[in-house]
Amino acid sequence: MLIPLRDFCRSQREWLLETIESLVRLESPTTDKAAVDRCGAELTARLSAIGGRVTPLTRTDRGNHLLAEFGCLKSQVLLLGHFDTVWPVGQLDRMPLTRSNGRLHGPGVFDMKAGIALGMLATRALLETGAAISHRIVMLWTTDEEIGSGTSRQAIEEEARRSDAVLVLEPSLPGGALKTSRKGCGGYEVIVRGVAAHAGIEPQKGASAVQEVAHQILRINAVQDLARGVSVNVVKVTGGLRSNVIPDEARAIVDVRAPSAAAAAEVEAAFRALRPVDPRTTIEARGGFDRPPLERSDAVGRLYGQARAVARELGQNDLAEGGTGGGSDGNFTAAIGVPTLDGLGAIGDGAHALHEHVDIESLPDRAALIAGLIQRIQ
Ligand SMILES: [Zn+2]
Repeated sequence: MLIPLRDFCRSQREWLLETIESLVRLESPTTDKAAVDRCGAELTARLSAIGGRVTPLTRTDRGNHLLAEFGCLKSQVLLLGHFDTVWPVGQLDRMPLTRSNGRLHGPGVFDMKAGIALGMLATRALLETGAAISHRIVMLWTTDEEIGSGTSRQAIEEEARRSDAVLVLEPSLPGGALKTSRKGCGGYEVIVRGVAAHAGIEPQKGASAVQEVAHQILRINAVQDLARGVSVNVVKVTGGLRSNVIPDEARAIVDVRAPSAAAAAEVEAAFRALRPVDPRTTIEARGGFDRPPLERSDAVGRLYGQARAVARELGQNDLAEGGTGGGSDGNFTAAIGVPTLDGLGAIGDGAHALHEHVDIESLPDRAALIAGLIQRIQ
């Protein structure tokens, strides 16, 4: 049953590469709306060309997100991903788009323009081989994942609620393993206010916000519990004004990650419980978790089991699973209870790094895996 899908995907290897390259060539850093929309226009044309009904979700200060629908069955499967990248326009000069030694290099190729093209080829395979499917395919390609999905989260959750499963085409783990858990992540800004005074004339009247933030940094970092997968790290500190003034303000930026909703709640409680050592100072903690954890629920495990069975039938290596400390939009869809499988995108390496690339030979079979999985979802 799955072999025609695989053969079709293999026959479209060049189409796949050409599609990926066309998207990589149009650089799309999250904060450059005009550039992101140029990439979006190309993607829209290509989605339409393969039979998609494309609706832009227009945004004023971010690129427009793209929703594409294929087929008209009532139940739906959602393919989810983003076409913004962390690279500025011009990065192509430093990381040229090249095929060499079985690898396709370029900014944003692994994270995650190849994943988008894989979803498109999987959809083509199902439609053009006349495979029996029980769902329509909906794709949501967003433009602000790399900065926290502020303008897309609501649309992602709405579309996920209408779906029987969400397949996230973010990069795979090394070797092609899927991501069945992701930590929740977020950040805090801890603002300490003290009392300014002349550091030479009357230092006793001052309450140093910098000294207080030093106390708090040690307390905050002590919340970290790596054995349980909880990481809490002060990543930036600012404070003070000039050499002769006891500082009345200091700030600490904190990165937080937690593997479960319960652990995230503990971290949140720890921040709410921060109290000053010097009672003349005050502490305010702003922030929280932006992305809830993607926990390996039974539903996630079942979906992974189906993917593994499809991979076996396609004659692929055993499809492994793993977790990651980084978040994705899959965190949102899993947290509202929709079966979500992440890391179904390309095999490669170097997300957000200069050696970013995908492994060319594995691409067509990866599309076949996605197609086969869509076909199996009930
Ligand atoms: Zn990504």
